[in-house]
Amino acid sequence: MRGTVLYAPRDVRVEERPYPTVEAPTDAVVRVTATCVCGSDLWPYRGLDDVEGPSPMGHEYVGVVEEVGGEVRTIRPGQFVVGSFFASDNTCEICRAGYQSACVHRQPGAPTGAQAEFTRVPLADGTLVATTAAPDPDQVPSLLAASDVLGTGWFGAVAAEAGPGKTVVVVGDGAVGLLAVLAARELGAERVIAMSRHPERQRLATAFGATDLVTERGAEGADRIKELTDGLGAHSVVEAVGTQQSMLQAIGSARPGGHVGYVGVSHGVELHGERLFYTHVHLHGGPAPVRRFLPDLVDRIIDGRIDPGLVFDLQLPLDDAAEGYRAMDERRAVKALLWP
Ligand SMILES: [Zn+2]
Repeated sequence: MRGTVLYAPRDVRVEERPYPTVEAPTDAVVRVTATCVCGSDLWPYRGLDDVEGPSPMGHEYVGVVEEVGGEVRTIRPGQFVVGSFFASDNTCEICRAGYQSACVHRQPGAPTGAQAEFTRVPLADGTLVATTAAPDPDQVPSLLAASDVLGTGWFGAVAAEAGPGKTVVVVGDGAVGLLAVLAARELGAERVIAMSRHPERQRLATAFGATDLVTERGAEGADRIKELTDGLGAHSVVEAVGTQQSMLQAIGSARPGGHVGYVGVSHGVELHGERLFYTHVHLHGGPAPVRRFLPDLVDRIIDGRIDPGLVFDLQLPLDDAAEGYRAMDERRAVKALLWP
């Protein structure tokens, strides 16, 4: 089968790979219908995370269950399923509290790589969410978005306590940030301010429900948010980048008592305790427990209430995965969908 492998920074190849098999009795093998390149894949691609030898890539997928291990009870071959980037049992105390991405039995969601024709999924019963019927082909990109970027943006908005009557700021105009805009609106936010200076991304943010756009960044950006909120700052801020500047911009945009939901994968962020002390801001985030939200997100997509698949502004055959990485690296594309 064909699969995507990162050999070294900027060296992505699609090549023949071993067909994944059931290794543990709780595994499933999924025939991938659609997969995509993640913003977090760009960290090793750019050499900012170490690449330790050839690495199978991809952790976002939807597909059809091909086979299951002997202890899999609820997931069956033939089902259309949505997974996410961590496998979880969905039964431990941490999972039941809604933090499946910190499951005591957590494993990588697609250890053989999801940017491939087939992928092995551990803890299939806990990890996978099956649709009741095969989805309409037009809904496949949106279901794929649910497997990571929508689920992550949604967690950011929930962690930031976005809701009715709230003003929500979103820092970051990548796929997660854009879908945090959608999430904030779906959760009932009154006003959603997207921080972006990129015209195409501003257009998408507006399509997803942004009411205001702010182009300033850093301390200037936070000052602009204060101006727009009677000098107070926003109730809720989603941080969807993961850099020092974006984190400080997010904290600086929140009002005393406000909430920051940080879901950008943190790289080198250091917070100053004393300065943080005087902000009175709640900070909550981390790797999104996408599994918590998946059943609800799948329903919203199947019912046609949301169309998060609009974030895929580039669609390519799997064999052209390298071009998907390049286009996202150069910010020519928000997010690249790959069709095996
Ligand atoms: Zn668990």
